[in-house]
Parts: sequence; structure tokens; C-alpha cells
Amino acid sequence: MAKTIHIAVIPSPGFSHLVPIVEFTKRLVTNHPNFHVTCIIPSLGSPPDSSKSYLETIPPNINSIFLPPINKQDLPQGVHPGVLIQLTVTHSLPSIHQALESLTSKTPLVAIIADTFAFEALDFAKEFNSLSYLYFPCSSFVLSLLLHLPKLDEEFSCEYKDLQEPIKLQGCVPINGIDLPAATKDRSNEGYKMYIQRAKSMYFVDGILINSFIELESSAIKALELKGYGKIDFFPVGPITQTGLSNNDVGDELECLKWLKNQPQNSVLYVSFGSGGTLSQTQINELAFGLELSGQRFIWVLRAPSDSVSAAYLEATNEDPLKFLPKGFLERTKEKGLILPSWAPQVQILKEKSVGGFLSHCGWNSVLESMQEGVPIVAWPLFAEQAMNAVMLSNDLKVAIRLKFEDDEIVEKDKIANVIKCLMEGEEGKAMRDRMKSLRDYATKALNVKDGSSIQTLSHLASQMEMIGGI
Ligand code: UDP
Repeated sequence: MAKTIHIAVIPSPGFSHLVPIVEFTKRLVTNHPNFHVTCIIPSLGSPPDSSKSYLETIPPNINSIFLPPINKQDLPQGVHPGVLIQLTVTHSLPSIHQALESLTSKTPLVAIIADTFAFEALDFAKEFNSLSYLYFPCSSFVLSLLLHLPKLDEEFSCEYKDLQEPIKLQGCVPINGIDLPAATKDRSNEGYKMYIQRAKSMYFVDGILINSFIELESSAIKALELKGYGKIDFFPVGPITQTGLSNNDVGDELECLKWLKNQPQNSVLYVSFGSGGTLSQTQINELAFGLELSGQRFIWVLRAPSDSVSAAYLEATNEDPLKFLPKGFLERTKEKGLILPSWAPQVQILKEKSVGGFLSHCGWNSVLESMQEGVPIVAWPLFAEQAMNAVMLSNDLKVAIRLKFEDDEIVEKDKIANVIKCLMEGEEGKAMRDRMKSLRDYATKALNVKDGSSIQTLSHLASQMEMIGGI
């Protein structure tokens, strides 16, 4: 019988830094039942309902240790979520260490796998004689940028948005400085310094797991492997996305699935800005009028307005979002559209045949979920690395139309209506849908249990850990 391999997995707070790494863990133990995983889970205050419901679905064959939550008052106020997430992990390091110590007192720990924001926990790997892996929940394109960033930082002293030429990363589509991740927008900011620190830490790990797949990003992945960055191994194990309904998705919300079943094929645009993206009141009005003007059917996951685009990422508000819609909007659009307050069963919605487009902020999980269902995208990036994802989708893969706007600009209703019509009705949209369907097929192939590229990569990773674990 295969020897049991004990590993520890450390997510970070925030729905989209918790779910993919736990989903990865589920896949690992399903495909390699001799792996025994303990998830060590840091949190910031009381997690939002979405994360709470998700955590309740972790199966019993994965052990969970919930660390004492970090008090929001102990962290700086008014900083962006990335800083808060990373600081939560920093403040949790003593309890992470304690958890690892208690695990290793019973059995050797072959590896520690940490989410990118929890990279500091990998410093403990040496002490516990374990391998260290980073779980990178984004694309290889973004990973290439991060690994290259320390060099860019030395090479240029100006803000990246002022660079005259696009940045050309090996194997990747060229990218303008303005589209780099939000953390790089102001180089004097603490968030940027932490970003660079995170990038540099990547050079010291044994391997990086990427939520992407060879068929999607072959040239970027090859370039990473060729460059090698010293001794790092790269493991494209994706797409890894959430599956099944969480407790959050039951009840009234499923009415929307019934409604979708009664709509014609490819006729509905799904509108959502991820687990915490928010729009200002003026922007909500323009989007509402834009949807109306487009004449298309829609499902819109609406959140109460905020002037900060990531306001709801770590903390949901209890305000009823419906009261922020323009007067008469619900009545005028009741035959064509549905508004879901704050949260929707996204994966289930995207599976419905009637969904023909996704107006998305281009968070990587949403991108992969849309891809797995062959649904093309209207790209409306808001924060984090979403603009890079939008560039990849629109300029490289050609499966999205990007809404072009300056930072802080209000996107007007006509512009919104035009891109929606173009995606839902135009020839360009149809070609994008066809291309997205090909990517869907590649994604399915990558996950084929017999010979899928990502499943094979997972086996290769498991063998590496088993070798060290003494099999
Ligand atoms: N999500 C969902 N229902 C919602 C909003 C988001 O299930 O109403 C899920 C979505 O399916 C995805 C994740 O939340 O798995 C959002 O991750 P993404 O990377 O797209 O964006 P982020 O939340 O990081 O901005």
C-alpha cells in the first residue's frame, strides 16, 4: 500500500484566495488518496458569508485548522485588500508556526503549499524539513510579470503607466504599463513594496502551482520553464474552479436558474463583478441604462454602490442594493432581466444554455469559469490583475471585447450598450463564442482523468512529493 504523505495547505483570506487552493486540495486527495492534507486557515475578522458557506463544504477527508482571526482594528485602515490579506497572514505567522509544529510532532510533513499571499509561511519549510510550493491562483502571464517585476523595478524609475513601449514578456502578449496589476500603479505606495517582496520570494520556493493549463498558455509556460528561474519547477494544474452549490446558493436564488431555462439559447448576458467588486452610484445608473438600451436579456448581480472598486471584497455590506437602481428600472425591464442582490450561483448560471455572454470584471476565477462553459466576455476590469486578464482575453485569445475607459472615468450607457450588442448579436461576438468553445474543449481535455495535461502535471507533482516522502 502507498505510504501516507502528509502535507499542509495554507490559503489566504478572501473568497478567491480560499476557494481555488481548497479546490486544488480536493483534486489532489481525489486523484492521490494516499495524500493527507491539513488546511491551516487564517482569517480577517469574521469572514464574509460566501467564505463561511464555502468553508462548511470542505469534505471530512481534508483536515482543517481555523486560526484565531486577526482583528481588523490591528491593521492599517483605508488600504487596498491585497495589503490587508498579506498582513493578515503576517500577523497569523505565530499561529501558523504553532499549527505546523503540532502537525510535525506527530508525523513528518512532506510539503507546505501556500497561496501567493501566504508566501511568508513558506519560510517555515526548512525548519520542518518540508518542500515549499506556492499556489499561484492566476495565469502564467501574470506569473511571468511578477517574476520579471524585480528587474523592471531596477530598470525603470518612472511610473509604469508612463512607459513609452509595451512590456514584452517572453511567450506573452505585449502589455502596456497602464494595464499592469493595480498594486504597481503607485510605486511609492506600501502595497507596491509588498508586491515586489512577494515577487522576490517566489525565487526561493521549490515549485509554483499555476491555475492555468498548457493548452491555454503553452508559450508563456514554456518560457517560464526555459528560463527556469533557478531551481523552481512550474506545475500548471488548472483550470481549478469551484464546483457544486454552497449553502449560499440555495433558496430563492435558484429561481434564476428556472428563469434561465425558459430563455432562448445564447440570449442572456450575465453581469457580475466577482466576489467583491463594486461600482459607484453614477456607474450603476449608466450600467442600468446601458443594459436597457442594449435590448438584451440579462442577469445582473448587483451590489450596493461604493466609490472604492474593491469595497466589498473582504467585507460584505448588508444594504439592500435594489434601492440604488434608477427609478422605474425594475418595472421597465421585468420581462427581460433579473437582478440578484449581491451574490449568485455563478457556476450554475454559466452552465445554462441561455447564457450567451458574461460582462465580467475579469477576475481569474470568473475567466476560467466562463471559459469552461464556452461563454465569451465583455471585459470590464476593476482592480488587482484584472486588466492583464482583459488584455489576454481581448488581444491574445480574442474571446472578449474590452470596454475601454480611463481610471476613474464613468463608462457611459451608449458605450456599454454598443459592446453588449456587439458581443450578443454581432458577427464578432459569434466568432468569439466559437473561439471560447474551443478553449472550453481544451480545458476539458486538460482535465481528462486518463491523459489530461493538468492531471498528468498533478501526478508529476505528487510523485515529486512522494519521492521526498520516502516512497
Ligand atoms: N462568485 C459567485 N457568485 C457571485 C460572485 C462571485 O459564485 O455572485 C464566485 C465566482 O464564481 C468566482 C469567485 O466568486 O469563483 C470570484 O473570483 P474572481 O477571481 O472572478 O474575482 P474576485 O472575487 O477575486 O474579484
